[in-house]
Amino acid sequence: MIIGYERGIMLIEDGNKLLLDPSHQSEIGIVTHGHLDHLVKDAYMTPHTLDILGVRLGERRGKPVPYGKRVNVGGFEEVKLLPAGHVFGSAMVSVNGVLYTGDFNTFGGKTCGKAEPQKCETLILETTYGKREYRLPPKDTVEEDIRMWTEMQVEEGPVVFGAYEFGKAQEIIAILNSIRQTPFVPEKIANICDIYTSHGVDIDYRTGDPEGNFTAVVTPAELKKPASGLARKAREEKGNLAYLSGWCAFYPFFRSMDIDAQFPLSDHAGFDELMDFVDKCNPEQVFTVHGSAEEFCESVETELGIDARPLKK
Ligand SMILES: [Zn+2]
Repeated sequence: MIIGYERGIMLIEDGNKLLLDPSHQSEIGIVTHGHLDHLVKDAYMTPHTLDILGVRLGERRGKPVPYGKRVNVGGFEEVKLLPAGHVFGSAMVSVNGVLYTGDFNTFGGKTCGKAEPQKCETLILETTYGKREYRLPPKDTVEEDIRMWTEMQVEEGPVVFGAYEFGKAQEIIAILNSIRQTPFVPEKIANICDIYTSHGVDIDYRTGDPEGNFTAVVTPAELKKPASGLARKAREEKGNLAYLSGWCAFYPFFRSMDIDAQFPLSDHAGFDELMDFVDKCNPEQVFTVHGSAEEFCESVETELGIDARPLKK
């Protein structure tokens, strides 16, 4: 099999061609998840991702493939999508001995499954946190910190979290629900939450004008100075604002986001999880994409003795 990059991760075998996360509309493409840098129409994707595409791109156009079902894409007969644990509907792609993780997380989430290692010959791995120093705390510890902080602060005033509108926002809603909070959200986030609930994911949220000591989840843009919407209301009432991102483990966002707290809630695997995942998949070769692709290959070669190289765009 030939593996390269040509407006997407390209697999070629026996005259057949397949594109993973293509950068353009493609009949032979597979979209791994519904973040905007991955969404294109007409490709294969999980039914969850297809519904997300409908809301985010305004037209539900693509081919739904449930997790675990074998399908033929572009002449490749054994294509299978597996949970990636990154966001609702996110998928890894397994095809003819190749496993492509897409964006993935072995901790998984409250609103999606989790990525499980699969034995494969070739592993194509997303390496957002591929540098040795990018070690993330365990997800349940982060969630516990968020719960404790929220319960304390909401006694004093409104508590607002800034989180990316698809994936992170729904995770924090689920965490808040676990301490009997039903957060207010803007329409933009509610529209995406509605897809979760239509697929049976149990999250409680509401829209409208809050009073008293409320909790809310807004987009990072609303959080930033000058705060808008629910974040502004919380600010005016001397509430507490927090930002959620995996990068909070490594960088301070207090000034740039104008926040009172930050929590490293990540939807990607950290360095330790990446290494462990490669070890368990035990491939003959590794290709890396995104983030610290070069640095991670060095770690794989020296520590695991597996041939690894970044996939060149
Ligand atoms: Zn993503």
